[in-house]
Amino acid sequence: MAITKTKFINYVRCPRYVALDDLKKEKLDSMITVEEYKKEEEIEHIAELLGNMFDDSGNDLIDIKNEHLETMMPYYNKVEILAGELASKYFEGSFKFSKSTYNQESFDAVIDNIRYLCYVDIYNENDDGINIIEVKATTTKKYLDLGSKDYSIFEKGNDGIYYLLEDLNLNIEDYMPLKVYERNRDKLFDKYSGPGHYIYDIAVQRFIIENDMKSHNDNKNVKYYLAVLNSNYVFDGKYENGEAIYDEVNGEDIISYIDVTNVTRDLMDKIYLDSKKVKGYIDDLNGSRVPLGEYCEYKKTVKCKYCRLCFDVLPEKHSILAYINNNFGFKKGNIKYDTYDLINDGKVSMLDIPDEMLNREKNKIQKDSVVSGQPYINERKIKDGIKQITYPLYHLDFETFPCPLPRYKGERPYTQSVFQFSLHVEKEPGVCDKEKDHYGYLAPNHDDHRLDLIRYMCELIPDDKMVLVYNDSFEKTRLKELAYIFPEYKETLLKIRDNVFDLMNIVKTKSSLYENLGYSKEEAKMFNYYHPDMDGSFSIKKVLPLFSDLTYKGMEVGNGVEAMVTYASFPKLLPLDYKHKYQKLIEYCQQDTYAMFAVLDGLRKSVK
Ligand code: SF4
Repeated sequence: MAITKTKFINYVRCPRYVALDDLKKEKLDSMITVEEYKKEEEIEHIAELLGNMFDDSGNDLIDIKNEHLETMMPYYNKVEILAGELASKYFEGSFKFSKSTYNQESFDAVIDNIRYLCYVDIYNENDDGINIIEVKATTTKKYLDLGSKDYSIFEKGNDGIYYLLEDLNLNIEDYMPLKVYERNRDKLFDKYSGPGHYIYDIAVQRFIIENDMKSHNDNKNVKYYLAVLNSNYVFDGKYENGEAIYDEVNGEDIISYIDVTNVTRDLMDKIYLDSKKVKGYIDDLNGSRVPLGEYCEYKKTVKCKYCRLCFDVLPEKHSILAYINNNFGFKKGNIKYDTYDLINDGKVSMLDIPDEMLNREKNKIQKDSVVSGQPYINERKIKDGIKQITYPLYHLDFETFPCPLPRYKGERPYTQSVFQFSLHVEKEPGVCDKEKDHYGYLAPNHDDHRLDLIRYMCELIPDDKMVLVYNDSFEKTRLKELAYIFPEYKETLLKIRDNVFDLMNIVKTKSSLYENLGYSKEEAKMFNYYHPDMDGSFSIKKVLPLFSDLTYKGMEVGNGVEAMVTYASFPKLLPLDYKHKYQKLIEYCQQDTYAMFAVLDGLRKSVK
């Protein structure tokens, strides 16, 4: 049972993980089957893929199930194959890559009597040495966003590969102040940050490869690269036999390569120390509780698989983690308290945090409402917000599929591709029938149905009527994207976008809206409504039960991720299953828009 890269990354979390992993110490210098290796990697790949798909959509993340693996794995595999095929444009020599681990180059090394093993996504060898290329279903955006407003810490070299500015021997001060550069570069070394996560991963790979080569006295020069999706790539809609063809478009390739040779070199000492840690954990095999920490990666798709077990110390309701912005910690005088330190000190509930440590006004409101069991309501603000609404009112919601590889013309990697809309028309305040006033469109398959969807939506929504959404940045961005992809509907779509009003502005608040209505800065930014049952979340799923008996509980498709996976599974469903799932998706999206009506209606009644 050799330790794979994925196992290493998990084992280094804490000693408890290792002990809980039912590890057979005596077998730790033997090999692992390819099937076992693949299984571990697949779960990790899909966790990362789903993490990227829902980076900014605000959906609840889910536990990865087999059906998710089956549905999403082909998308990941396709990225891997494209990265392998395109590599020959950027690197000379011979290549070894495959969607199946069976044909990939592997390295293994015995360190402290433990065998470590890794497979390389793309192995390239030429006269200069070896290039190790790891494919990640993330985008260049994660890396190019590091830097100042105008420049990234990465720049393309003459060979089209991205390098750190320092690796290109550029004068950093010409791009940004050195401090800004260093602060952003440091994020690459933080394995809990988005870009750092992948750097740590390939650094573990490098550690195993270096030890393997050392044991064979192999001194070849090795360089390390990440292959990621290019966020600047806009698909031109070219297909062959129904398959999208990702040719170069406007000088951009679908995959970009980032040289991380020097960054991973700088991590080698840390990985060595981490391997010592892992060795110690394996020797002790101590399953007793350990302090909780960032390494649990709670609430991330890549969270520790034992979170459920260890986080049982937190109460189900009103835990300290329900405090909004708790990631910034708490403060008493000049002393700052980290949230995990407080948890490990037994302060697990909201009520365990003394008032003097609550520096944020919003946190005080949260605690007061938990103590009193009563909601906090700023009636005047809610009434003034509701007064802004005009009728008939069009409640709109989109479901999207943020495919790693763009599927339709005009899309980029991870474009939130709209496949469904739901619309409820509230003719006058409080008048909306769940069935009779409902309209919608759901793409029947994975062909490009965006025009049908847009056409129907534009027919239904007059361009001078108010459109209500929940959390407007998502819907507004989709409308704008569609407007530029379909110029014939640009004017109408942009008008619909301009008419969007966000229901969350009334539930939560929006500073600019309320300042315009004459409220002070302080009052404008404070919540309008907070109920203890919200537990720190303003999502429609949390807010709905406070105003209505409507519920998502028991729904076969009950959240955004399930909706996306259900749509993704369409092509492989048998006719009867397809019909059933299609209907469940319609019901889910219908519930979303009717929930908005119910929340608005409830709010209106609560401030009468
Ligand atoms: S949840 Fe945290 S403390 Fe528990 S095993 Fe995982 S990493 Fe360790």
